[in-house]
Amino acid sequence: MNILVLNCGSSSIKYQVIKIETETLLAKGLVERIGAEETIFNYQKSGSDKIKSVAAGINYEKAISGVIATLTDVKIGVLKSINEIDAIGHRVVHGGEYFFKSVLIDDLVEKRIEECIDIAPLHNPANLQGIKIFRKLLPDTPNVAVFDTAFHQTMPKVSYIYPLPYNLYNKYKIRRYGFHGTSHRYVAEQAAVKLGKPLSRCNLITCHLGNGCSVTAIQNGISIDTSMGFTPLEGLMMGTRSGDIDPYIVLYLMEKEDLAIDEVNSLLNKQSGLLGVSGISNDIRLIWDEANKGNDQAKLASEIFIYRLKKYIGSYLAVLGRVDAIVFTAGIGENDEIIREKSLADMENFGIIVDKNKNTELNRQEGEISTPESKVKVYIIPTNEELAIARDTKTIVENHRT
Ligand code: ADP
Repeated sequence: MNILVLNCGSSSIKYQVIKIETETLLAKGLVERIGAEETIFNYQKSGSDKIKSVAAGINYEKAISGVIATLTDVKIGVLKSINEIDAIGHRVVHGGEYFFKSVLIDDLVEKRIEECIDIAPLHNPANLQGIKIFRKLLPDTPNVAVFDTAFHQTMPKVSYIYPLPYNLYNKYKIRRYGFHGTSHRYVAEQAAVKLGKPLSRCNLITCHLGNGCSVTAIQNGISIDTSMGFTPLEGLMMGTRSGDIDPYIVLYLMEKEDLAIDEVNSLLNKQSGLLGVSGISNDIRLIWDEANKGNDQAKLASEIFIYRLKKYIGSYLAVLGRVDAIVFTAGIGENDEIIREKSLADMENFGIIVDKNKNTELNRQEGEISTPESKVKVYIIPTNEELAIARDTKTIVENHRT
């Protein structure tokens, strides 16, 4: 079964074709700057070199036609025809309170995803566009939606209700949803295998540290709290997002700097975090380069990042009581040994001891980086959201057939 995994953003499409029986990646690609003057098509057939091409006047439909033309191209493609796509797995950012797991897409599911646009105006419209185009293009091919929020729908009210007037929850569904769910679930499943027990008996703290960052507290296999909230802005300091701040700062700034809503939005989502404090970049590698040269702002940015991560991990230790393992994943989690080491430093009293040598040796790989005495295991587990989406798609399509 060939599964096309699609991640449709507002101006980009990320995709993979996975032969799911063997979990083999056949090809992957990224279309960037859709709708701009020049659209960039990146493509790589497994085992071959990356190919990049540029085209003008590309809207969303044309971008998808381009992807299909590439995948079925006699020279560089991996499929003889479009009919060799057996199912499509769509990443959907927001499933609101409707979806607690992945689902086969029908008209009602499409309507529900549309209803969530209100609370995910930047993401759901693009996700929906991809769904609509493929349902029309391949009417007999099943489409599955895999939601970023679904894994966190198990959170109890005590963790998802904000201490605001309660009618705002009823009226606008303002509550904490959490994101990165597909990644947290995937690494949790991998961690359970390493621990040698079913996920339903595992207590875990999973740290997804990419450009966006979130931490999740998993109790007996289910998410009971996560650091992102109503939107992905809450929680940890991130590449360009502030994470937790006193909400009054927003009102204060709007008044003092006469800022409009979109200006505050850009300030908090695009100009803050590592970029905002360092004044250098949202990329942690460039921040370390400057910090090592003695740049105080860069040093401070890295210290705040680590401090806030440590605080969240500490709070989830308190919430969970017993923790089997802490997992690091995504760009920073998988590749940055300093962040891992420092965020768990001096936590022996909590049963956490990182083996510094293993932490260095295993950087960019998968494995255990805690000492044998450490009660809480610490793992690096590379995330693979596309594979998780493909697995869900396979399961749902097969269950639907039987
Ligand atoms: P996204 O959320 O966009 O998928 P990623 O998971 O790729 O982001 O993470 C991006 C972050 O990971 C950046 O801060 C980047 O510096 C960091 N990162 C990526 N590769 C490395 C690396 N080899 N060493 C250290 N940091 C890395």
